[in-house]
Amino acid sequence: VKEQGKNDFGFYAPEMDEEISKKMTLEIGLRKALQNNEFTVLYQPQINIDTGKLIGVEALTRWIHPEWGTISPAEFIPLAEETGLILPIGEWVLYEACAQNKAWQNEGHSPVRMAVNISSRQFQQLNFVDTVRDILQKTGLAPMYLELELTESIIQDSLHAISTMHTLKEMGVHLSIDDFGTGYSSLSYLKTFPIDTLKIDQAFTRNIFIDQKDASLVSTIINMAHNLELKVIAEGVETSEQLHFLQQKRCNEAQGYFFSRPIPAEEMNSFFQQQMIA
Ligand code: C2E
Ligand code: CA
Ligand code: CA
Ligand code: CA
Repeated sequence: VKEQGKNDFGFYAPEMDEEISKKMTLEIGLRKALQNNEFTVLYQPQINIDTGKLIGVEALTRWIHPEWGTISPAEFIPLAEETGLILPIGEWVLYEACAQNKAWQNEGHSPVRMAVNISSRQFQQLNFVDTVRDILQKTGLAPMYLELELTESIIQDSLHAISTMHTLKEMGVHLSIDDFGTGYSSLSYLKTFPIDTLKIDQAFTRNIFIDQKDASLVSTIINMAHNLELKVIAEGVETSEQLHFLQQKRCNEAQGYFFSRPIPAEEMNSFFQQQMIA
């Protein structure tokens, strides 16, 4: 899982010992990362397919270590979950993302939703709702401009989850199901859980023109979402052909390299004005 060749932890050491010691080194680094200010949040635009306008951004966290360089979340998030460090890290990300969204609004940009990834360990915290409420209050961001991206594993994990979702929903926070269709979940939760949006995983988007079955899955997910009065967003949109397919199938929103990679907050400015689809 070596990404961009930038860090030393992406390869599998032949000896177990080496692998364990790498993991320990990584863990020690991760423990210091928050206090050393090594995390940064990038933002990726989400576009309304009908209007071509920016309607949201997803916060994607990066760990930039002074010696090891950029470490991808695919590597440090699982370790953060395992060690519990995801709790302070996740809280920092949520605060940062909400504060950034409020800052954009203060600069006079049209308000957009800020989507933040929440790991199940975070969501299961008994005080999770209080944390969210507290952060919204401190940053001054209205709840309707926050969206939490949850995975299907959260739903399977606990009974507590459903009441947490209802409370967040009552507050006005949006909820979406991330990586929809990859979690082997029963679909019945869709009728009882207060969800706003399904997010089609990039694994499906990528294969629209490669595997007819993926194309069928994508259009089935879109139709099902609409029949259930849910919105649907596709991630991993890289080409205009994929976008046109999604447009034809009446997918509501799209996100991916076709529009932009995840970028620093300062670079978001142009996206607030621009029409992203001709
Ligand atoms: P995800 O939530 O499914 O996010 C989508 C991933 O796809 C991101 O990778 C994004 O940079 C990448 N991506 C976006 N558009 C395209 C595209 O057009 N093509 C391709 N090939 N990739 C695209 P990233 O940023 O490396 O994040 C990986 C995963 O790490 C995320 O998957 C999410 O599950 C997790 N993650 C990232 N930040 C956080 C965080 O703050 N908290 C938690 N709990 N998880 C996070
Ligand atoms: Ca996500
Ligand atoms: Ca995904
Ligand atoms: Ca995910």
